[in-house]
Amino acid sequence: MKTQTLERMESNVRTYSRSFPVVFTKAQNARLTDENGREYIDFLAGAGTLNYGHNNPHLKQAMIDYLSSDGIVHGLDMWTAAKREYLETLEELIFKPRGLDYKVHLPGPTGTNAVEAAIRLARVAKGRHNIVTFTNGFHGVTMGALATTGNRKFREATGGIPTQGASFLPFDGYMGEHADTLDYFEKLLGDQSGGLDIPAGVIVETVQGEGGINVAGLDWLKRLESICREHDILLIVDDIQAGCGRTGKFFSFEHAGIKPDIVTNSKSLSGFGLPFAHVLIRPELDMWKPGQYNGTFRGFNLAMVTATAALKKYWSNDTFERDIQRKARIVEERFQKLATLLSENGMPATERGRGLMRGIDVVSGDLADKITSEAFENGLIIETSGQGGEVVKCLCPLTITDEDLLEALDILEAAVKTVINR
Ligand SMILES: *Cc1c(COP(=O)(O)O)cnc(C)c1O
Repeated sequence: MKTQTLERMESNVRTYSRSFPVVFTKAQNARLTDENGREYIDFLAGAGTLNYGHNNPHLKQAMIDYLSSDGIVHGLDMWTAAKREYLETLEELIFKPRGLDYKVHLPGPTGTNAVEAAIRLARVAKGRHNIVTFTNGFHGVTMGALATTGNRKFREATGGIPTQGASFLPFDGYMGEHADTLDYFEKLLGDQSGGLDIPAGVIVETVQGEGGINVAGLDWLKRLESICREHDILLIVDDIQAGCGRTGKFFSFEHAGIKPDIVTNSKSLSGFGLPFAHVLIRPELDMWKPGQYNGTFRGFNLAMVTATAALKKYWSNDTFERDIQRKARIVEERFQKLATLLSENGMPATERGRGLMRGIDVVSGDLADKITSEAFENGLIIETSGQGGEVVKCLCPLTITDEDLLEALDILEAAVKTVINR
């Protein structure tokens, strides 16, 4: 495979091509093909961007039809029929059945754009600067969002400019199984000398994706919501990775029965891997002045076309949801077996997750790398997450066929056994 130009010209900042150093040419649903015609099953799926698979035929058709009809592709944030249909579909299929009422802010097309907009709005709405965020949280890498992102690797890459405006608190489970970390938050809020500037908002992932598939308990999330309500703090759920069905519901917070004030979605929102993000805002918080937060690529029409098609195809009834939950049980059971196998062989490991956002924590980043490299040799693309990359993580397309799912799990099991027997 010819990789010389890629290695020579692309910045050292590249990441995934280091773990999977082949040149890909094609993809369909959960399968990627490289230049030599070799196929791989994709358990990374754009870090949760391809929940509906690569080149989903329904979404692709919607896009082709739109392009063939000379539909508007770019119009800044002018009104288009594609935007109207997206908003109508979002309201009918997502908000109404869930009893939600939000205004939709279309910021720039990436996740970090949505987070920047969300935390900025919280500050504008409450007239306070501080945002509470949690250990191991990942919310993007532009300056505002970076302040709420825990990982030092990203935080150290600002050229010495300090990240500002956020306070870190322990995420659920951070202090061990038996401590309720919200006791600390509540105590600080009530303590004149605790040192915590009363925040405008709290930003949280219900399942931390990059931070290592750390799952917030449903009671913990409910309590977080009630603490926020009691202290007039806005609850922002960053559903960029855990949303769009990944955990088995459209929004990951549905499991907890909470209603965030602000929600961010991106990654799988377009459904096709096109850049797209939105921020959902409780209507009375929509304090933006016209044009106060802008960007050239707000509301990418092509992405709204595929996003609409995805909502119509997968979210008009609960068939898809139930199928995600069924597949999740298969992955959970197999991951549990692998964790047990590793533990029995002197490598303590645990399984965790919600829906099809699952991981095996093997404690050591080295061990996780050995397993994922071995899996890649055998045709499975699977990544690690967590502060030291110690969690082997499943983010397969939700639309993966049962055959591919089982084959991928077999490849992973073989990789674990090979590593154990080395
Ligand atoms: C990926 C991610 C982001 C950042 O999105 P980008 O498109 O990479 O800027 C923010 N929050 C969460 C939870 C993410 O997973």
